[in-house]
Amino acid sequence: MELYSTRAVFASVFLLLSYTLKVMRRVIAVHFLLIATVFSPGAGAYASGAVSITVFPASIIQGEPMLITVESLDVPVSVKSITFGGVPLRVFTYRARPAALVGMDLNKKPGVYEISVLLSDGRTIKTETTVGERKKIEAPFGIPKKLGGNTQASQDALISTLAAENKNLANLRTGAKTFWKENFVEPLKEIFVTDTYGYVRTTGPYSITHKGVDFRAEEGTPVLSVNRGVVRVARTYRNYGKTVVVDHGLGLMSFYMHLSKIKVNVGELVGVGQVVGLSGQTGYAGKPHLHLSVHIGGVSINPLKFFELFK
Ligand SMILES: [Zn+2]
Repeated sequence: MELYSTRAVFASVFLLLSYTLKVMRRVIAVHFLLIATVFSPGAGAYASGAVSITVFPASIIQGEPMLITVESLDVPVSVKSITFGGVPLRVFTYRARPAALVGMDLNKKPGVYEISVLLSDGRTIKTETTVGERKKIEAPFGIPKKLGGNTQASQDALISTLAAENKNLANLRTGAKTFWKENFVEPLKEIFVTDTYGYVRTTGPYSITHKGVDFRAEEGTPVLSVNRGVVRVARTYRNYGKTVVVDHGLGLMSFYMHLSKIKVNVGELVGVGQVVGLSGQTGYAGKPHLHLSVHIGGVSINPLKFFELFK
């Protein structure tokens, strides 16, 4: 009996508790509704998609980068994926917003491309952007004496060894998260462009596109990592000379070439602005300078346009 009555007491206490909880839940639910109604006058707009996509710059040409950010996203809704022309991009957080970088290949077909953002609540937000054609500029570019001068044999050697070097520098390991901090710095204290990105250098029967930018730098000028990252390459190549590659994570990489001295080791985590080497003219270079390349998902884009994204 006593046992039974104890059970009965427990049962009633339990019932009372669960009833109280139910009431509390209802009260909480009502409060949430009130909060939604009172404090978000745009709640209706939000429900029908106040979330928007910002594309910077609004349109680009072949060989340029683009930064996509998702605006006005409220917790707990998150971004499940961002695609450009149907191709998924790597998503990171930039200035507290979901963001993604696009690297436009020099051979990307010009035209209108769709940017699509899939949200965790099932909604899809879309916008469009244009990829324009880059004007092809050609200029002859000789081979320095140290690499055999302007002979057919040294032109052939240049092309075959370049192909091998590019293969060696492709598909490098990249971090699954961003190593970079928000502000990028230029790779030299003083920036003066001597050779722009994207023009075609003709060497005998061959054409080589300059996929990077050359900066004036006296031999021995400190070369700075444009942001935090892990060193993936620190070695000498026949054509690229002494080279350092810093992986900033999620497929974003910076390449420093023709150095006279390498100051870092593979696997080392370098900070933003840290000296990775000294400038020089090793490899396929006629005078001392710094060659900088920036890759987004394996695509080498105009580094000067890249810096503009984060200003
Ligand atoms: Zn160069």
